[in-house]
Amino acid sequence: MKILVVNCGSSSLKYQVFEMTTEEVLAKGLVERVGLAGSSLTHRREGREKVEIKSEVKNHGDAVQIMIDALLHPDYGVMKSLSEIDAIGHRVVHGGQKAVRSMLITDEVKAIIRECFAFGPLHNPANLAGITACEQLMPAAPQVAVFDTSFHQTMPPKAYIYGIPYELYEKYGIRRYGFHGTSHKFIAMRAPAFLGRSAAELKLISCHLGNGSSLAAVERGACVDTSMGLTPLEGLVMGTRSGDLDPTIVSYITKNAQVPENDVNDYLNKKSGVLGISGVSSDFRDLEKAAADGSERAQLALDIFAYHVKKYIGSYAAAMGGVDVIAFTAGLGENSADMRRLICEGLEFLGARLDDARNEATRGQDAVISTDDSTCKILVIPTNEELMIAMDTRDIVGK
Ligand code: AMP
Repeated sequence: MKILVVNCGSSSLKYQVFEMTTEEVLAKGLVERVGLAGSSLTHRREGREKVEIKSEVKNHGDAVQIMIDALLHPDYGVMKSLSEIDAIGHRVVHGGQKAVRSMLITDEVKAIIRECFAFGPLHNPANLAGITACEQLMPAAPQVAVFDTSFHQTMPPKAYIYGIPYELYEKYGIRRYGFHGTSHKFIAMRAPAFLGRSAAELKLISCHLGNGSSLAAVERGACVDTSMGLTPLEGLVMGTRSGDLDPTIVSYITKNAQVPENDVNDYLNKKSGVLGISGVSSDFRDLEKAAADGSERAQLALDIFAYHVKKYIGSYAAAMGGVDVIAFTAGLGENSADMRRLICEGLEFLGARLDDARNEATRGQDAVISTDDSTCKILVIPTNEELMIAMDTRDIVGK
């Protein structure tokens, strides 16, 4: 069974083709600068050199077309006919309250995606444009929407209702939704399988640490809390996002710090976080290097980041009445032994003891990095959101 996974951003389209019998990636690619000058496709058939194709890509329809041309290409394509695609899985960022699981795309599902444009103004319209283009150009393939928010829909009201007038929730749907759900779901499935345990017996904290970062508290396989909120701005300090703030700061900086009201969202989403604190970079590799070279603010940014993750781990352990597994994933979580050490220092009271040698030795694969006597297992589990989307798509189409 071949499944095409499509992830449309406002000016990009990423795709992967999976052979689901082996979970193998047959080809992947990225169309960049959709709707802008200088657009191109980078495509790679597994085991071959990648090819770069410069082409005018005016919109997501054009992007889907050049993806199709690459997939059918006699040299670097991976199929003779589009009829070989059994289903298409689309990443959709915001599904609001109605998308409690991945769903076969129908007019109702498209309406749900549209209803959430206000919550995901950059992503949801692009996601829908990708879906519409695939429907037009590959009408025979069933399509599935896999939402970043839906894994978190099992949270209880006490975790998702904000401390503001309840009418704002009732009238406008203002509540915590959470993001990175596909990644957290993958970790919630993979971690117990790796440990040979049942998800039903575990209290797990999934730490997705990358450019954007979030934690999820997962009890018996279901999410009970997560750090991102109505939008991905809430929670941890991130690469360029502020994370949790006193809301008064917003009005204060517009009145007193020359930040125009229209720019506040950009300021908090793109100029804050470890970039804003350090003044160096949003990239944790740059920060680690700058800190090693003596930059105090880069070190401060790293310390603040680790401190926030540690506090969230503590609060989620309290929320669940304990924690059996802490799993690190995404660019930073998978690759930075230093950051994992900073975060885990002082968590011994939870029964979580990091094994320094194991922590240093882990490279790109599932690994236990806690000591043998650690009652809480600390893991590194590389995330695979595309595979998770493909698996959900297979499960839904197979039904
Ligand atoms: P992601 O958003 O999951 O792609 O993660 C990107 C972040 O992971 C960037 O801030 C990178 O600096 C960070 N990252 C990737 N590899 C490493 C590494 N070896 N050491 C430290 N940070 C890393």
